[in-house]
Amino acid sequence: MSKSNHKNSNAFEKNARELSTLSKKELVKKAKNFSKQYCVGDGKNFKLKDYETKASFNLGEEGKPLVRETLQIGVDALAAMQDVLYAQDKWSLLIIFQAMDAAGKDGAIKHVMSGVNPQGCQVSSFKAPSSEDLDHDFLWRCQKHLPERGRIGIFNRSYYEEVLVVRVHEQILKNQKLPEKLITKDIWEDRFQDIRNFEKYLNRNGTIVIKFFLNVSKDEQKERFIERVDDPDKNWKFSATDAKERGYWKDYMHAYEELIKNTSTEKSPWYVIPADNKSYARIAIASAIINALDEMDLEYPTVSDEKIVELQAVKKALLEEK
Ligand code: ATP
Ligand code: MG
Repeated sequence: MSKSNHKNSNAFEKNARELSTLSKKELVKKAKNFSKQYCVGDGKNFKLKDYETKASFNLGEEGKPLVRETLQIGVDALAAMQDVLYAQDKWSLLIIFQAMDAAGKDGAIKHVMSGVNPQGCQVSSFKAPSSEDLDHDFLWRCQKHLPERGRIGIFNRSYYEEVLVVRVHEQILKNQKLPEKLITKDIWEDRFQDIRNFEKYLNRNGTIVIKFFLNVSKDEQKERFIERVDDPDKNWKFSATDAKERGYWKDYMHAYEELIKNTSTEKSPWYVIPADNKSYARIAIASAIINALDEMDLEYPTVSDEKIVELQAVKKALLEEK
């Protein structure tokens, strides 16, 4: 273990051990501070190389229970906040996940959202568009899945594919049925602008948008692909197309850098999460979601004095019931 790795691991361990003693408010503050380092905010000067794929810590085998416990504390805090979000029924949260294959989107969604009430949360996955989708503007299919007030909506891939896979493979753009004169050299800039405007529009209507790029390294992806071949229970997760897309790694990284630069804003930020260590990534994601929920003025709806009198009368009647 390197010296800095050792130092970081010690710091993580110390922080993690303290967590269970903290009040909810202190916990939220910790989560906010922790997530900040991965938040791009205004993307103007964004460079992907400034963000690591590997969290610079390694607690080893014996640290595993502590990492699990830390995630659980985050998941519980998030679930408690979602309960208020749902009861208040004013704000909504849209969480977008984008990543290369095997970066851990599915696992992150499963673990981070494990504590939330399924009634208040919906996950939508966006694969290659159908012919009906292609008969509409590119936001159309996603708009239908936006979260209602009081809900959390998760997009497993999203309209950002329109400036990713579609940018990497020219042929996909050609098959989109767009009028030819609209396909110009400015098309990506145009799409960035449309996305920025769309997210601003959502913000102004009470939907907060946060976006995660799970930043996995090419080497780690290779390991995970091999594991998917070797483990029969994971075979279903792997296809030759995934390996083919890996061949376009550089083009994808360029597309990611461009899109984060152009669509990360203070109000709808991208988080670039080091994804080579799955547990660490999940803790960072939970923290960022807590941060977003904390920006809303969440509180349980209060009832009027008359209503309280009425409730007390009902209680009295129930107690006197024979
Ligand atoms: P898993 O991580 O389990 O493999 P996945 O999200 O990769 O899940 P797949 O069925 O493997 O799901 O693939 C979805 C594919 O659809 C991706 O290759 C993605 O790039 C592609 N896709 C998504 N949106 C679009 C789009 N707008 N245009 C073209 N292709 C798209
Ligand atoms: Mg896939």
